[in-house]
Amino acid sequence: MRTRYGILACLLALAGGAFAASRAPVPAPTSRVRVEVRAPLVVPQGEPELEVAPPPRSAPPTEDTGPLRAAGVGLEDGLIITGESTQRVLLFTFDDGPERRTTPALLDALDRHDVKAVFFVTVERLSGPGNRIQEQRELLREIVARGHVIGNHTVTHQQLPLMTTEAITAELDHADAVLTELVGFRPRLFRPPGGSRSPRVDRVLAARGYTQMLWSHGTGDFQVRSADDVQHIFRRVLERREREEGVRGGVVLMHDPHSWSVEAFPRIMDEIERTNCELLTRGEELYDVIDDPALFFAARDGAEPGTVAPPLTLPPDVHARRQATRRDEARERCAAIVASR
Ligand SMILES: [Zn+2]
Repeated sequence: MRTRYGILACLLALAGGAFAASRAPVPAPTSRVRVEVRAPLVVPQGEPELEVAPPPRSAPPTEDTGPLRAAGVGLEDGLIITGESTQRVLLFTFDDGPERRTTPALLDALDRHDVKAVFFVTVERLSGPGNRIQEQRELLREIVARGHVIGNHTVTHQQLPLMTTEAITAELDHADAVLTELVGFRPRLFRPPGGSRSPRVDRVLAARGYTQMLWSHGTGDFQVRSADDVQHIFRRVLERREREEGVRGGVVLMHDPHSWSVEAFPRIMDEIERTNCELLTRGEELYDVIDDPALFFAARDGAEPGTVAPPLTLPPDVHARRQATRRDEARERCAAIVASR
């Protein structure tokens, strides 16, 4: 057991944010963080026209805007998102899929918990012949149909700083073509494999209009083999980042091709709900699982490609409104938990 916890301790050290290892000063939160749902829907040249005009921004998503939301249209050319939040806001992201053996169960669990996530897909799982690829292409359409967002996680999942610019460009071309064929639009969000970046890679990605989204809360799920360990690391990272760095929430990284990660997700959600019951009784800020990566978005506005976005801080009125809703939900849920005892 000692060895196991020794390994867990190492993973905890590693499982913080993608940005934690090479931290640069992060500017203080500013009002540049866009909190309205997203930018006006602009159909870029060369991509299919919408058959029906998009609804007003206040309208709920419809089938017509699904592909636009899924591709993150409106989130292009943003500052690099480190994923950190000064509030207890969580956005779930799943990398390296889709995988036909595990992703379907995750989609059902996300639905059961009414959570929308971002899937950073590895495009070699979606291109080429064979039943497996075909099933995973269908699965990507299912991810979109269920209201999630997709992002580009390259084709072959190599460390980009080790690749030539020509090779990176070829991967981006290939990924754009496959994902546009499947979704109708190319994704605007990009996650570099391993979080590996360089000034050259940042420039190449910015020139294509990609917005890089890193993560603030790793779960170590690529190195452990049990849902227990994933859940344990998630909780410890969440507590440690708040206690030691004041990072109270942010972007959570998991990997949907791992069965233990898929198994851990509903447990993590149950734990968040139980924790919120305790926080409610103490009058503290509750955890708020958000559906929209646009909350983390800040336009680059000509800044250098390697410039990072400030940590997410929702404006006070938005935060207060969301917290009031979370408290109402928790009151109902926590009462039901107590009643069932
Ligand atoms: Zn990956």
